[in-house]
Amino acid sequence: MSESKSYTGGCACGAVTYRIDGDPMAVRQCWCRHCQKLSTGGPTHNAFFMADAIAVDGTLASNAHAADSGNELSWYFCASCGTQLFGASSARPQMRAVRLGSLDQAHELQPTAAIWVQEAPGWVRIDPAMEQHPAQPPAPPPQNQS
Ligand SMILES: [Zn+2]
Ligand SMILES: [Zn+2]
Repeated sequence: MSESKSYTGGCACGAVTYRIDGDPMAVRQCWCRHCQKLSTGGPTHNAFFMADAIAVDGTLASNAHAADSGNELSWYFCASCGTQLFGASSARPQMRAVRLGSLDQAHELQPTAAIWVQEAPGWVRIDPAMEQHPAQPPAPPPQNQS
């Protein structure tokens, strides 16, 4: 097994920082209506990591809503400045969606798939090189399955 990477990140005001030891299972952008609200009009860009690989320093606030699927979707943000940091689904409580823009160093992560593209605004041009899903595709495979 190759050596895992580590990442650091944080919010816009600096009150919350985090460190991740591990590799992401997937990097996706999500165009669902809910993500468009969180992101002020674009998609959210998310790198999926195991929750226990993430160490947070600072005070997070959170909120949640019930998705059409019946799953509860939570989102976590800096209690001081509101920067989006993580998302989570009750369907996959062991995983976190780390908002790509909150990673604070040069890194190689980029989305390889766009999901919920059926809800994207008409003016959006999605990179045709990315895999595209009209709605929710299957979850990325969990790590350490064996
Ligand atoms: Zn902040
Ligand atoms: Zn979404």
